[in-house]
Amino acid sequence: MKRFDDERREMLQLLKDRGIKDTRVFDAMNKVPRHLFIQEAFRNRAYDDCALPIGYSQTISQPYTVAFMTEALNVKEGDKVLEIGTGSGYQAAVLAEMGARVFTIERNYQLYDKARKLLDSLGYKIALKAGDGTLGWSEFKPYMGILVTAGAPTIPQPLIDQLDEGGRLVIPVGGLDEQKLHIVERKGEEFMTREVHGFKFVPLIGKRGWSN
Ligand code: SAM
Repeated sequence: MKRFDDERREMLQLLKDRGIKDTRVFDAMNKVPRHLFIQEAFRNRAYDDCALPIGYSQTISQPYTVAFMTEALNVKEGDKVLEIGTGSGYQAAVLAEMGARVFTIERNYQLYDKARKLLDSLGYKIALKAGDGTLGWSEFKPYMGILVTAGAPTIPQPLIDQLDEGGRLVIPVGGLDEQKLHIVERKGEEFMTREVHGFKFVPLIGKRGWSN
């Protein structure tokens, strides 16, 4: 629909103005119809740069956060990428449009089921699982990219263990009110971390996250 196409272009311009540089991220986000991942009642705000409710006290992340995390992950065509926190499925679709082979885990069964149906209907070939993502998905390890879209108290060890040589883990870590985005890069057996301030996510709940 033209209205949504125009709004999406405006959103991408705003992300550029805010400092996102990777043109592959813009191309990917331009291909995903974000309005379809938003509940009917909030659809007219689908391309605003803000998080929006998706039910069950969860949110679809703000476009700037999606772009920032995707850029930080530095995904290449064909990379195997694990996302923790499928939510609406939007971030998973953006990763798929980047050319990644995407695996994603959601702990809330209703959200998992809804995202699975939507991603299927849009033709995305994405592997989804309902479960506790703090344990990773060891069956398909190692991953060149692991992206966590909920805030953790500390980095879950299984995610470190499932990261491939040269791979990156992007995860918000901190208290319940605010987190720093940790960008962890594996070089051999060494893990280098860069931290970026000023993010707020819903909590990562699970065995290696916050308790319920
Ligand atoms: N990536 C999502 C999107 O594009 O809509 C946004 C995700 S929302 C900010 C975070 C999600 O993480 C919620 O749907 C929440 O249920 C999920 N979550 C929290 N803890 C989890 C865990 N241990 N394993 C998997 N998902 C989890």
